[in-house]
Amino acid sequence: KVTGPVKPVTLPSYTLIFNFSLVKLQNYINGQLTEPTAGQYINNYNPATGELYSYIPDSDEQDVEQAVKAAQAAFPSWSKTTAEKRGQIMMRIADLIDQNLNRLAEAESIDNGKPLKLAKKVDIPRASSNMRFYGTAIQHFASEAHYMEGTEAINYTVRHPHGVAGCISPWNLPLYLFTWKIAPAIAAGNCVVAKPSEITPVTAYLLSELCMEAGLPAGVLNIVHGYGHKVGAAIVAHPKVPVISFTGGTKTGRSIATTAAPMFKKLSLELGGKNPNIIFADCDFSNALHTSIHSSFANQGQICLCGSRIFIERSLYDKFKDAFIEKVKALKIGDPLEDGTKVGAVVSEQHMQKVLSYVELAKEEGGTILTGGHQVQVQGRCANGWFIAPTIIEGLSAECRTNTEEIFGPVVTLIPFDTEKEVIEYANCTAYGLSATIWTQNLTRAHRVAHQIHSGIVWINTWLLRDLRTPFGGMKSSGVGREGGFEALRFFTEPQNICVKL
Ligand code: NAD
Repeated sequence: KVTGPVKPVTLPSYTLIFNFSLVKLQNYINGQLTEPTAGQYINNYNPATGELYSYIPDSDEQDVEQAVKAAQAAFPSWSKTTAEKRGQIMMRIADLIDQNLNRLAEAESIDNGKPLKLAKKVDIPRASSNMRFYGTAIQHFASEAHYMEGTEAINYTVRHPHGVAGCISPWNLPLYLFTWKIAPAIAAGNCVVAKPSEITPVTAYLLSELCMEAGLPAGVLNIVHGYGHKVGAAIVAHPKVPVISFTGGTKTGRSIATTAAPMFKKLSLELGGKNPNIIFADCDFSNALHTSIHSSFANQGQICLCGSRIFIERSLYDKFKDAFIEKVKALKIGDPLEDGTKVGAVVSEQHMQKVLSYVELAKEEGGTILTGGHQVQVQGRCANGWFIAPTIIEGLSAECRTNTEEIFGPVVTLIPFDTEKEVIEYANCTAYGLSATIWTQNLTRAHRVAHQIHSGIVWINTWLLRDLRTPFGGMKSSGVGREGGFEALRFFTEPQNICVKL
């Protein structure tokens, strides 16, 4: 099955997905779509309309147990399958994702509230790139060898897959981040028990169908849907899952680390951020302005890398502020499926309330709302959706809660600064350390500042430009470990040193 060309698979059309109330999603365990053991389901809502449109399995530890057993059973054969063959199957999955770009993008947009255009341009192409990248990278992941002169010995390092890997992902970039974990795990020869977010489960469900058609052997990837405190916690606590790759909130990461530590599980934690966007007066103004709009409000500000604290050198402050407000007010908020929409719905009603509560906090802390700060009523079919106007706030100290806690919505603050030293202190004054952006045409300064910022990623005169070969992850409370490139393949393998005396 894995040698011929892939048979085109047609996923359910937009209309079917939209009417998902007819369809219950299912788990994908041991190569089969299965009902949750307890027969319970969770309601899944369309954030742009507020409508219930699908049911997802409310799985429990029994389903996780079945998934782990299936993964354990598949492991001996999958880990011995050559890297080339594993890569071939992953390329087939990537091809099928590409063939279904439109349908997967629609599903992602409906499930998450993000503009369809963004899902088409970024989320789904990145999911196939993840598969292709790791299907290829594994072919180049060579064992190291060292010859010891004088003692006539050779050391070489074998990298063994761990066995069953647990992969848990969030709702903001659903298929993008789900595949970012699964791809290196299976490329390295592990079998996976994965849990997508219960808030955005649809594209992970659709991926099951593509994996079956691509010829992925049963049990190599198992997808168990459900709540984090049930399914996620059961995966983390399972004694036969020695490695956990998690992306989500810092609070959840802390609870996962607490469960995993006594069992000495290998952990990769990609957590929250409160990223500084530093704009020096000598920047390329137009580029800094336009990219800052994107880095503030792309995906409704629900990207862990969004630059939610904008620091502007005082001599540029008023010019930047005025132009920024004008451009932000012009962003089209509305139906995520419409072409011109720039700002879609936030992911849930609960999340909308959380974001708006931070706007209230900002007012209490003395902030001035320059634009936005409220829910938006969109006309037509999205009248009951969860939309927030892009919000800009000024007048807050760098140390206040609004400026140090992650809001994860379309809310940014503007803060003037006078010196390089001052802005570095501001940038570093949160518990987070995921990413930072610096705008200046003085490259010496750009490098000097970058080296002093405590974050895993620094962009200079750009934002979100990603090369999949580079390490990705955060410092401080933004995480533990790195994904990306060979870092993820190292994480998903256990090195073993073998020393041969000649
Ligand atoms: P979350 O922590 O609530 O949930 C993430 C996943 O963990 C979900 O699948 C959830 O069901 C599961 N989960 C919840 N409780 C669990 C538990 N006790 N044990 C195991 N699993 C559990 O996060 P979210 O709200 O889905 O996502 C938003 C957060 O993710 C933000 O903080 C954002 O910054 C972060 N994020 C980080 C990155 C990164 O690469 N650093 C990328 C995207 C999002």
